[in-house]
Amino acid sequence: MVVTTHRSPDGDAIGSSLALYHFLQRNGIKANVIIPDADPEFLHWMAGHDSITIFESDQEAAKTLIAQANVIFSLDYNRLDRVADMGAWIENTSAQKILIDHHIDPAAYFDFSLSDTTASSTAELVFRFADNLGWKSMLNKEIAECLYAGIMTDTGSFKFNSTSANTHRIVADLMDAGLEPDKVHNAIFDNNSFDRLQLIGYALSKKFEFNDELGVSIIGLSLSEKNRFKYQKGDTEGLVNYGLSVKGAKMAVFLSEELNFTKFSFRSKGLIDVNKIARGYFNGGGHKNAAGGRLDMSLNESINYLKDVIQNKITL
Ligand code: 5GP
Ligand code: MN
Repeated sequence: MVVTTHRSPDGDAIGSSLALYHFLQRNGIKANVIIPDADPEFLHWMAGHDSITIFESDQEAAKTLIAQANVIFSLDYNRLDRVADMGAWIENTSAQKILIDHHIDPAAYFDFSLSDTTASSTAELVFRFADNLGWKSMLNKEIAECLYAGIMTDTGSFKFNSTSANTHRIVADLMDAGLEPDKVHNAIFDNNSFDRLQLIGYALSKKFEFNDELGVSIIGLSLSEKNRFKYQKGDTEGLVNYGLSVKGAKMAVFLSEELNFTKFSFRSKGLIDVNKIARGYFNGGGHKNAAGGRLDMSLNESINYLKDVIQNKITL
């Protein structure tokens, strides 16, 4: 069996995938986790991480594993455009396709779907999946840490309104299995490089615009600015949340320039549906209050386009 997750994998993507991997292995089922591209270093401590195959840098091995799999899991994404070039390889196998995900509007092509948009995280759904199969007694410290990493990062450390009583009940079970939450928080949040903090400081002091009439924050970083601070994957994770923390902010956008495109992160409060905005204008999607997208434009073109959408195309 193969477990896959989305491009630019985050804590929930890696945590849920590795947890499922461990559950399968503990049941004597051979499994491999394949990710489209590398994940940030602050996730590398998770048990089993060394066994992950990265499609982008190890294509032959990844394609062979996908071709040989009888079951392919899709975790934390529900459309094949979220896994870049890997999508075509997944689509063209006769393997059973199983979805475990919490994003809106799953594609129809999966053979089995555990899709719940009210779930805090895919990690929470992997816990439910395992529990339904009677696997809960197989929880151990390593699996608990992976699941906790997914739940904790996707709930913004239990502050988003996707956090339910059940989320906390699951965490209680994870602690009973040996989880020490502070260790996971330390591993994820207290491993900043000096350059990363300087980059965040620069972005907040020099690249942050707030439109107080509309309640919109925009933070944009060019490729050369990121390079100046020795940018590593994950260094701008969470930056968009500062934009939303301004008093009166209703929506925050973070733009990150890459070689031939610009990546967008959207966050909103209340009724503003950034999933709709990301889908309608930015080739993306996500959740109502957290979404992303990308456009084949430079940073400056992207900011102009974004401002035109905000001023003329949508109402906030
Ligand atoms: P982030 O801003 O943290 O990269 O992503 C926020 C949310 O939007 C996540 O749930 C993620 O799955 C979704 N998302 C991010 N980028 C994209 C994208 O390019 N396409 C789609 N469909 N969803 C995205
Ligand atoms: Mn998720």
